Amino acid sequence: MRVSRTGMTVVALLITLSGVEAGAGQLGQLGKVTEGVKKVGELRDLQVTDAEEQQLGQDVSARIRERYGVVQSAPVHRYVSLVGRTIAAASSRPALPWTFIVLDTDGVNAFAAPGGYVHITRGALALMQDEAELAGVLAHEIVHITGKHTIRSMQKTKAVQMGASETLSGNAALLDRVVAATYESIVERGFGREDERESDAAGVALISRVGYQPAALGTILARLKERNASSRERRGLFASHPDMQSRLDGIAGTITKQKLTGTVTLSERYRQAITYTPKPLSDIATVDAGAAGLTGSDSKAAPAPAPADDKAKKDEPRRRSFGLGRMMPGSGGEKSQAQVTGSGAARGVDPERDARGGSNPALVAVSISAADLQAFRKAGGLTAAGA
Ligand SMILES: [Zn+2]
Repeated sequence: MRVSRTGMTVVALLITLSGVEAGAGQLGQLGKVTEGVKKVGELRDLQVTDAEEQQLGQDVSARIRERYGVVQSAPVHRYVSLVGRTIAAASSRPALPWTFIVLDTDGVNAFAAPGGYVHITRGALALMQDEAELAGVLAHEIVHITGKHTIRSMQKTKAVQMGASETLSGNAALLDRVVAATYESIVERGFGREDERESDAAGVALISRVGYQPAALGTILARLKERNASSRERRGLFASHPDMQSRLDGIAGTITKQKLTGTVTLSERYRQAITYTPKPLSDIATVDAGAAGLTGSDSKAAPAPAPADDKAKKDEPRRRSFGLGRMMPGSGGEKSQAQVTGSGAARGVDPERDARGGSNPALVAVSISAADLQAFRKAGGLTAAGA
């Protein structure tokens, strides 16, 4: 893979890669293999500049906001942005134009889009009890962006194929396809396990560096697990979902191994800023897949059941339900795939993701100066740790 100076390499076409790797073990064929790798690279690589990553993120975010609506509250956006920017400033990509968006839905979820767009739902804020928990979830999403998982998740779907000489800039049709594929992989499928583990581990390290208690991410995930365990017994999936337990164990392990020592939680400041009441899972109104455009490619033009269902059936058992985007344990994940059959199971019904959203997709503008950020950190006993 080539990597440009300014951007990253998008692998659009993953065909024949496994064949090449299999051959790579045979020394005698090394010359041939190298040639093969080069040729494959020329076919499938697409340069994405930082500006193109921005464009992609902006368009994907617009889709997410169309789907769920945006809470039209400046104070709520200001508070979430202050917490988010405190963390982002200590991340490996502090200079991205970070944007924090509160989605108008009771479902508990968070979505990272490329280029610095972090979305968190009103339902997730309602479930949290202090600022450190919010910081943990935002940091997890921030790492999805700084680690470029958001780009990689789209690549893995193999949904977009492009020629070597194509670029996103000035190619509206290609951009549309990439936006659709990225939206689908972020909202519908979530990230892969390795990306989730990396986001959990790097996320707790990140919040601890600025002073927050790192265990807070585990605390909010455990509370979510508990809420869902008591709320939908008929599924019987939530209490013992292995992915969530493995994530909780992973977070605890990271804190011990890296000797993370942050202690700030700020429950009082959180309660003053966020006053939403959490809703039990059973009270969350949902919309059906077709109406919400949940299968991805075109929410307005596809009111019918998804043509992507067949593909989803194949891909989902492995990838579903393992992110903050899939925060809910058992939301169409391994167990439900194994135990439930029928058309509902194919998509993996997920009340959090399928939750009804608000109707106003407009961004809420927030202006935060360096002095504002400094004052916010100081008042909270936080520091401006570098990356
Ligand atoms: Zn995640």
